[in-house]
Amino acid sequence: MSRSPAKPLYVDGQWFEASGQNRIAVTNPTTEEVFAYVPRGSASDADRAVAAARAAQDAWGARPQAERVAAVESLHKALEARASQLTEAVVDDVGTPHRIADKLQTQLPLAAVRDFIGAADGIEEPVRFRNSRIHRSPVGVVAAITPWNYPLLQTIGKVVPALLSGSTVVLKPSEVAPLVPYVLAEAIHEAGLPPGVFNMVSGVGPEIGAALAGHPDVDMVSFTGSTAGGRAVAAAAARGIKRVALELGGKSAAIALPDADLERAVKATVSSCLLNSGQTCLAISRLLVPRERYAEAVELAAAIAARFTPGNPRESATKQGPLVSATQRDRVRGFIDRAVADGAAIATGGAAVPDGLDRGYFVRPTVIADADPGSEIAQEEVFGPVLVVLPYEGVDDAVRIANGTPYGLSGAVWGPDEDSAVSVARRLRSGQVDVNGGAFNSAAPFGGMKLSGTGREFGRLGLEEYYEVQSLQL
Ligand code: NAD
Repeated sequence: MSRSPAKPLYVDGQWFEASGQNRIAVTNPTTEEVFAYVPRGSASDADRAVAAARAAQDAWGARPQAERVAAVESLHKALEARASQLTEAVVDDVGTPHRIADKLQTQLPLAAVRDFIGAADGIEEPVRFRNSRIHRSPVGVVAAITPWNYPLLQTIGKVVPALLSGSTVVLKPSEVAPLVPYVLAEAIHEAGLPPGVFNMVSGVGPEIGAALAGHPDVDMVSFTGSTAGGRAVAAAAARGIKRVALELGGKSAAIALPDADLERAVKATVSSCLLNSGQTCLAISRLLVPRERYAEAVELAAAIAARFTPGNPRESATKQGPLVSATQRDRVRGFIDRAVADGAAIATGGAAVPDGLDRGYFVRPTVIADADPGSEIAQEEVFGPVLVVLPYEGVDDAVRIANGTPYGLSGAVWGPDEDSAVSVARRLRSGQVDVNGGAFNSAAPFGGMKLSGTGREFGRLGLEEYYEVQSLQL
């Protein structure tokens, strides 16, 4: 089956063929079959898209805010009308289980669009301060470079605030799972934005992504992806002193305090770790428990994880699908093998092919015990269904271990009451921390500290990042 778009790049309000002959195969991670192709655009395609975005920016930024908000309302409608198409694409392209794909990969991003519209209210009102009047202006031309794991959510988090602010966009979606961004581009086309306000070029990171990040006519680069990719983008952008927002990896920890409900904490941590086969930047991939409850916690975690039998994401019982690609699967298995070589124990799962699944990029849900907190498996982002359970001696030790990686994206604290959990949460160097199971909030600022990135996405703060500030002295 081929769903290859007929006219593959979207620039200046039109679909057109890429300049080169190269194309990228899109593989279904469950069947390992190629089911679509997208173009491998070149730097000259990126130039063309940036030129269109530049040419459209002044007029778009000069439109009354109400018109920009109305355009995003139309986009929301067009996306809603394509909800099932978006969900089907993410199941085929990423392997997210169908039973959760609509809620997680389609409805959540749609809610984030609505949250951004709400956040726009009053944001452009000038503020008087002594003899100054402070205005907000659009940041300009935005290059949005996105990953494959939550393709709609990560793209909405950049494209929608840019459009609302009066900025224009060149989107470079991940080449690993590019189909959802194509549906988004069709929705934007239908929403009737002026030509050049939104453009999309597909291709590989070191070619198109790097060309955009270093382009003299790009004012801001917003990147979500690996820390290595973020470093490359930041270095390319630095030459032009561009604004850079980076949403990168994580190695987030849950701390179960001594008097916490251990079973609740373990259950929620395993679910967070295994969500989308562990390919979630916010995934809690370390569980820290008091040493005296360590054996109990490992046993519980292993029993719960073992119930996430991997399988075809289209079957209604499947809770864990495949990993997105053979590369990702092999990378995760490598981490598990090296953990064992480093002296850790496998409480459940492991690197072997799951029973009966010799086709598809599947990895067993895995719980690792007895790892050294400084070892690779306890320090590095695996981006797969692998949870490390670590013991601690007292709360200070728990905080030290939780903060003891180069990352600082997310975290969780479980305590006997909110106040005691919050006091520990406030000591974590992480951009977001869930307290006693607090749910994801699509309007809360989202982003990381340390190697997890800079800047915040979503909601009011995420919208503010797409404005420049201008002070008029009167
Ligand atoms: P990746 O860094 O390989 O790719 C992300 C995007 O960057 C892709 O579009 C890719 O083509 C592009 N890219 C890669 N190298 C580039 C370069 N040198 N210059 C410019 N662009 C380049 O990451 P991925 O494998 O797609 O995604 C997985 C990673 O993303 C994980 O590390 C995960 O934690 C992270 N992630 C973070 C968040 C967050 O919000 N913090 C969200 C989702 C994923």
